[in-house]
Amino acid sequence: MKYISTRGQVEPIDFKDAVMMGMASDGGLLIPENFPNIADKIESWKNHSFQELAFEIFSLYITDIPKDELKTLIDKSYATFDHELVTPVTKLKDLSILELFHGPTLAFKDVALQFLGNLFEYILRERNGQLNILGATSGDTGSAAIQGVRGKDNINIFIMHPEGKTSPLQALQMTSVLEKNVFNISVEGSFDDCQGIMKETFSDLDFKNKYNLGAVNSVNWARILAQTVYYFHAYNQVAENGEKISFSVPTGNFGDIFAGYIAKSMGLPVDKLILATNENDILARFFNSGTYEMNSVNFTISPAMDIQIASNFERFLYFLVEKNPEKVREIMSRFKETGKVVVEESLMKNNTTLVSAPSNTEKTLKTIKKYWLDENYLLDPHTAVGVNVAEEFNLATKTVCLSTAHPAKFPDAIKDATGEDLATHPTLEALKGAETRCHKGENNIAKIQEYLVENALR
Ligand SMILES: *Cc1c(COP(=O)(O)O)cnc(C)c1O
Repeated sequence: MKYISTRGQVEPIDFKDAVMMGMASDGGLLIPENFPNIADKIESWKNHSFQELAFEIFSLYITDIPKDELKTLIDKSYATFDHELVTPVTKLKDLSILELFHGPTLAFKDVALQFLGNLFEYILRERNGQLNILGATSGDTGSAAIQGVRGKDNINIFIMHPEGKTSPLQALQMTSVLEKNVFNISVEGSFDDCQGIMKETFSDLDFKNKYNLGAVNSVNWARILAQTVYYFHAYNQVAENGEKISFSVPTGNFGDIFAGYIAKSMGLPVDKLILATNENDILARFFNSGTYEMNSVNFTISPAMDIQIASNFERFLYFLVEKNPEKVREIMSRFKETGKVVVEESLMKNNTTLVSAPSNTEKTLKTIKKYWLDENYLLDPHTAVGVNVAEEFNLATKTVCLSTAHPAKFPDAIKDATGEDLATHPTLEALKGAETRCHKGENNIAKIQEYLVENALR
């Protein structure tokens, strides 16, 4: 399998090179040349474990790592999860919840980042190389990425987070990691500011090559690939007799839902993918109007979704505009210049899978309370956004709501919703009062790069 760029200006490359490239060197995002169709395999995969599904699916997209080594990487990556199913489904009255928070940092990001950390280690050992990871986080990617590479040789990791905009526990999960290869930077700004600095830095190819920069954000194809697995795994746990099911996905950077789009494109019987947003509803507005227009960011109780510019949207756009890289370039450059772009009705018609609507703080809190009182099930605020929007769509198919984080990561929202301190988790309790280390960074690309240069592996 070869990988190409959404902007069409990168020669096709192999998987390992795609992982190391992160963002495509032409400013676009890497995607596989095709999506292998597995519709005829679904039945025989019915009783596969998460790891077995991962092996089958990864083997289609990773053709430059020997099978036995791929298997070792998979087993190692998912041994750190605290549930034997890795991503179990809990069935509630009207909906099912796909619990993606059983990894070491209690958010779905672990599913991909445990694997990516091991993958980086494997590739660097093989190539005798070094890597400086630069990432931006709205809260969960940072801790999951740090957890994936802490203490690993030949890797330094630099993670920017918006100061005061993550939940305090999320910040502590990052800053309490004291290994010397871990560098946290709190930036005075929003997540979009952090992601902007990251993207600018990656698009300076001389800088990127000089410092061997690597990406852990969902611009990295390996992350999306790893996330496709749980759509298949959830399907096995929920669907009967080959029926179509739908998924509701609380969306920020469009990575998680894009993995669902791939699963469907490969032939998984999926009806709708519900794209749920909080007040940061740029994607909901786009799917309902064809106008992609930036607003200022709202800070909400679901901070991982407080995003205006969703980086993976470009991958979806590529397929929406019928795999036309010139069109992608035109749309992305117009958006960058003016903050607004309109996609023609005729192209919007190509989408028959994604439907979208926004939730808001009031509805999210009500949803948390309702599920706690009625079903004795505690939803984190991101998951609650997805559940609320799924309820409003009330589709005829079975709907699986992706639960992207453990509620204990957001105790303030849980208390606001239920009036009680219900959300705890031993992993988080153990962090309280821990020693921390963090660099305070200005919202300034030159300053951040200076810090990186001072501390980079060379
Ligand atoms: C990252 C994150 C999201 C958003 O996922 P995307 O892939 O960015 O769309 C939703 N919920 C939680 C808890 C997250 O950490």
